[in-house]
Amino acid sequence: MSTSQPAESTLSDTQIASITGNLDEVADRARAAAGASGRSGDDVQVLLATKTQPAEKIRIALEHGFTLIGENKVQELVGKAEELADLDHEAHLIGPLQKNKVNHTLRHAQCIQSVDNLELATKIGNRLEVLDETIDIFVQVNTSREDSKSGIAPEDAEALITELRGLTRMRLRGLMTIGLPGRTPEEIRPSYSDLRELRDRLIGAGVMPAEANELSMGMSNDFELAIAEGATMVRVGSSVFGARDYS
Ligand SMILES: *Cc1c(COP(=O)(O)O)cnc(C)c1O
Repeated sequence: MSTSQPAESTLSDTQIASITGNLDEVADRARAAAGASGRSGDDVQVLLATKTQPAEKIRIALEHGFTLIGENKVQELVGKAEELADLDHEAHLIGPLQKNKVNHTLRHAQCIQSVDNLELATKIGNRLEVLDETIDIFVQVNTSREDSKSGIAPEDAEALITELRGLTRMRLRGLMTIGLPGRTPEEIRPSYSDLRELRDRLIGAGVMPAEANELSMGMSNDFELAIAEGATMVRVGSSVFGARDYS
């Protein structure tokens, strides 16, 4: 257990033990799922989805050895960045990005997983030119085809990714999707297998470079299924930090 809490931490020992216990359990389950599908545990990274969670809880996880966090809102990304600045970690944006928030995002995120249109990508690329910087990205694909979801339609992904190749300051790491939360495994599985098949097809056709082979998919309720379908990064929140408080 961590002993280096900052003085202002309001977490009890029980809360801290709960978070670190959950982290160990998620890591064990992810490793076992990778093994069950014939892959090494090192092939699957666990990103902590930290929306609504206070920085002091995230700090526990980073001090426990986790290094990847994902925020949905730029405001939260920015707000927690300073509080976590002393801890080695990588912050990803995993929620929709409005064009007027690109500057803030580039200042505090090391990866944007929600790139799903050329206008946004161009804006990011232009800003990176000015800053003389680069960033990692995933293209978000709406494999579940829910109207409410962001992400590009699977049939439009090839055209978008082809256009992205001109934007050399963005390093495409792979594809991201949000499945169908709250459904049965049978209902969820196609949204993950479709993403894997899309990746394989686009790499096979030379549309994506071979190293853009990452698949960010799977959440608390279904990450083992996502790993079975080829996830290389799962995004878990509530199974580590407990239910979110949106109040
Ligand atoms: C909240 C969120 C997650 C994690 O969800 P849990 O069910 O809490 O694990 C993963 N990905 C995205 C994009 C999210 O918004």
